[in-house]
Amino acid sequence: MTALSGSSAHAPVAEDIPTAVARLRAAFGTGRTRPLADRLDRLAALRALLTEQTEVFQEALRADLGKSAAESYRSEIGFTLNELDHTVAHVEEWLRPRPAAVPEPFRPAEATVVRDPLGVVLIIAPWNYPLQLALSPLVGALAAGNTAVVKPSELTPATSAAIAELLPRYLGETVAVVEGAVPETTALLEQRFDHIFYTGNGTVGRIVMAAAARHLTPVTLELGGKSPVVVEPGADLAVTARRIARGKFLNAGQTCVAPDYVLAVGDTAAELEKELVAAVHELYGDDPAGAEHYGRIVSERHFDRLTALLGDGRTVTGGTHDRAARYLAPTVLADVEPTAPVMQDEIFGPILPVLTVPDLDAAIAFINERDKPLALYAFTESAQTKRRLAEETSSGALNFGLPVLHLAMPELPFGGVGGSGMGRYHGEYSIDTFSHLKAVVDKPLV
Ligand code: NAD
Repeated sequence: MTALSGSSAHAPVAEDIPTAVARLRAAFGTGRTRPLADRLDRLAALRALLTEQTEVFQEALRADLGKSAAESYRSEIGFTLNELDHTVAHVEEWLRPRPAAVPEPFRPAEATVVRDPLGVVLIIAPWNYPLQLALSPLVGALAAGNTAVVKPSELTPATSAAIAELLPRYLGETVAVVEGAVPETTALLEQRFDHIFYTGNGTVGRIVMAAAARHLTPVTLELGGKSPVVVEPGADLAVTARRIARGKFLNAGQTCVAPDYVLAVGDTAAELEKELVAAVHELYGDDPAGAEHYGRIVSERHFDRLTALLGDGRTVTGGTHDRAARYLAPTVLADVEPTAPVMQDEIFGPILPVLTVPDLDAAIAFINERDKPLALYAFTESAQTKRRLAEETSSGALNFGLPVLHLAMPELPFGGVGGSGMGRYHGEYSIDTFSHLKAVVDKPLV
């Protein structure tokens, strides 16, 4: 029996996956999700869900990931509300047909680009920001006039259960939530959707894309990878270390755009290591295990994967852990070799390797020899370095001076390139992702 939560505004009703998809297709077919007023109503309902059920979600996120209430508000609930409010404020303007120039020989005629809803979209979310990454794509899907199936992660059962119980209660007939693991996702992927929006790892991304190909369904793949930080001589290393530590150890390192590793250029490594130790202390005190804002590793499997990486390099700070509590201290490793296990796959946990490279050329070569990262960060005072990184590397985003920041700016596209994914969302980019840009021509019959 597929665990699928309901279709009515009252008690959840068990429903199998094909029935749910058929229901959503029928709801889309009535045309009711197309008018702007309906889109705004549904966004208002989503807003009500987030504001009325804040504490329920905060409790669930604490149970799943040890997130503090403030942290859950900032990076999950409040984040999604910002995305939603920005969308509500602009959606009418974004949906307005855009006039296109009509070449002289075809005049008189009008040409416009219209953003048409796609139909039924599937949103598959991961566990690291389990609320934000399920509901913030949904904001775009609803604003673009679609119905949606949301598949939250099985690794965060409390948050997923809260979404499954509450989302249909607020949004009624135009959404369905499918809980479950691989069998349920596999069953979902057999259905025909009009768009699949997947956030997670590249291995499953390939499975999603192969399944989508059978129905010629377009996909957005929000993947991860190793996001480097380049630190150049001349950068203020105290500020640099504070900002790297904040971005890295947020959510215990389980953030897709967290700095994965540092490339310390020239002789910066020794001083940077000292400043990183000070920064970790400033953020989490003598005992990060007791710090209010320090999270826990999502599962024992991920905990074991991470602790197996602790032997690489020299431990500058951290390294302590407690499996029963899924606690791993904020850890900085120095003198790490590029061939070390910690440098092979995305770390996705609170371990920060520092590698030394002789110069910027070597840093750029290092980055370009690997998959295109989801984000590239650099701390430098050199305009030439900024220009070279912008022109000579490719990444989903490029931030100078502050990791992770771009994620919270709804006017910026968010997405990867190459191995870090395809497609983009947030704000107006979500509307384009969940719409078809239709060319409409109107030539008078005279
Ligand atoms: P996960 O294990 O929760 O998987 C994500 C989804 O895929 C889940 O809903 C799960 O049920 C489904 N799934 C898992 N195995 C499957 C299979 N064999 N077939 C079909 N579906 C399957 O999350 P994860 O992948 O561990 O998430 C972490 C990854 O996500 C990291 O690589 C991280 O960088 C990336 N990520 C990217 C972004 C982004 O916005 N680009 C955001 C967060 C996380």
